[in-house]
Amino acid sequence: MQFRLDPTDILSRLDALRTADAPTSGGRLLSYVYDSGIAELSDLAGAAALRAQSLNGLDPTTFPSIAAMERDLVALARDVLAGGDPDVVGSVTSGGTESCMLAVKSARDTWRARTSAEHRPTLLVGSTAHAAFHKAAHHLDLRLEVLPVDPVTARLRPDDVAAALSPDVAMVVASAPSYPHGALDPIAEIARVCAAREVALHVDGCIGGWVLPWWPGPENRRWDLTVPGVSSLSVDLHKYGYAPKGISLLLFRDRDRHRAHWFATTRWPGYAVVNPTLLGSRSAMPIAAGWAVAQALGEKGFRELVAAMVRTTGRIREAFDRIEGLRVVGDPVGPLLAIAADERAPAERRVDPHRWSDAAEDDGWALQPQPRHPQSDGTVLPRTTHLTITPVTETVVDDLVASLTKAADRTRGVAGARAPAEFVAAAENIGPADLTSEISAGVLALAGLEPKVGLDGPKADILALVEELPAPVAERLLIEFLARFLEP
Ligand SMILES: *Cc1c(COP(=O)(O)O)cnc(C)c1O
Repeated sequence: MQFRLDPTDILSRLDALRTADAPTSGGRLLSYVYDSGIAELSDLAGAAALRAQSLNGLDPTTFPSIAAMERDLVALARDVLAGGDPDVVGSVTSGGTESCMLAVKSARDTWRARTSAEHRPTLLVGSTAHAAFHKAAHHLDLRLEVLPVDPVTARLRPDDVAAALSPDVAMVVASAPSYPHGALDPIAEIARVCAAREVALHVDGCIGGWVLPWWPGPENRRWDLTVPGVSSLSVDLHKYGYAPKGISLLLFRDRDRHRAHWFATTRWPGYAVVNPTLLGSRSAMPIAAGWAVAQALGEKGFRELVAAMVRTTGRIREAFDRIEGLRVVGDPVGPLLAIAADERAPAERRVDPHRWSDAAEDDGWALQPQPRHPQSDGTVLPRTTHLTITPVTETVVDDLVASLTKAADRTRGVAGARAPAEFVAAAENIGPADLTSEISAGVLALAGLEPKVGLDGPKADILALVEELPAPVAERLLIEFLARFLEP
């Protein structure tokens, strides 16, 4: 066939489009991507993915290679995260969000079967639990109860969990560690509370599950499926498993709870549908890539890459002891840090974390600003900037520390951004129901946000809007912004 365009031209066009992207290798992007820093490893992942390009994960009996790779991955995860317990089973999913949603579906359906109740069960999470659980509760129609975390350590408190447990709670979520602050919840204690009441406990190890097994620390800091009372655990291989996006694992201690996240139907005239995942047809490319990476690294390789992150995280944490006006939030366990203004410093010596990350961005670093978060008990988690450290970060750590120090020097004493008061007052008078697509676009324009341009430039003002607008209004505006950004 004569193509409309020459393949070489098409690929050069793609390369040209890619120049607009944040740099996915080299260590200057400290979120979204997890770079082992080993070129041969990403080449291997790419080559494995290509070999699986034509497969369909819809039916592993037709393509047993997929079943074999999934078995290998679950077996490895069982060794690493469940002490090799042969009764631990699991599924390969498309990502952390899908793993979390399926864990919630399993808990909801198990709760329904046990109680035969008509009303909605509750999903009990801490305020730092990943937003994927908000999404799961929304889509699967559970009541979401959000507990405040300790505002100093950003950890969930076992006593709060105990006090909130009721017969309506289908599942509790704890993080290992949390995405925003890298805080490891006291999982053994929470598990004890949940086990005593026979309530399921999901450990969200999406980000930390493939790091903490090799992260040095006290032996008694137990958080995985070897802890009695932990019923399921999620871990993303497209994070610290260095696979391309599209692969996560969801493990269960109990076969019945595992089966409860599946879906099967014979009630249509087509092929029998039997899916462990939300997707039907699904790519085997990330599975093959994740499998190949795990084959190459093995536990020894993952341990070595974690050792590099331990060194780098130590270096960066030490740097914050010397940078006046900023501090690390809590006592993070793992390669994730949240940086806040240091309230112990006088106002004129403090550094606003968002002004700071904007200044670091001018130096070519992409950090991730996070909004301040008021909790239900009146305490507030401060605004922070998030850093995800990966193995590649070690290759740029001197430059990074120098830039972070310089950015703090440039922004020390500069007040943080506030949303324009008249804008916030106006927004408070609009109900989300009034926010049609057209009105939302008008409000975005008033705020100086232009979806067609995207989000190049300082983020502090946008984060201030997210902090100060009523959540339903901010959420509707964000949808409008991104939807218009994507419109042809
Ligand atoms: C990334 C992450 C998720 C969600 O994962 P996606 O792969 O982005 O869907 C859930 N929980 C934690 C702790 C995470 O870091």
